[in-house]
Amino acid sequence: VPRRRCVGCGRIAPKSELVRIVAQPSAAGSRPLAVRDREGTMPGRGAYVCRGERPGELAAGCLALAIRRGGIPRTLRAPVTLDHKIVESVSR
Ligand SMILES: [Zn+2]
Repeated sequence: VPRRRCVGCGRIAPKSELVRIVAQPSAAGSRPLAVRDREGTMPGRGAYVCRGERPGELAAGCLALAIRRGGIPRTLRAPVTLDHKIVESVSR
């Protein structure tokens, strides 16, 4: 089973317990958008965050830690803007 590390809490878990985030190229001059890769098929580097209660949701604490520590742009090697759907998909 492939295992990945959550960029928030640092937990190593099977991919099924994490949500993959990738940088999606955007218009010239603006930052790439960090979006959820719910199918796990989008190309490029992926950053992983623990999933919340339902598939596709992110664990609130892990996303907060990832944002505070800069784990998503560091892992994606790009200065990304978080897609609003990521923020809205946090389970509370
Ligand atoms: Zn986590």
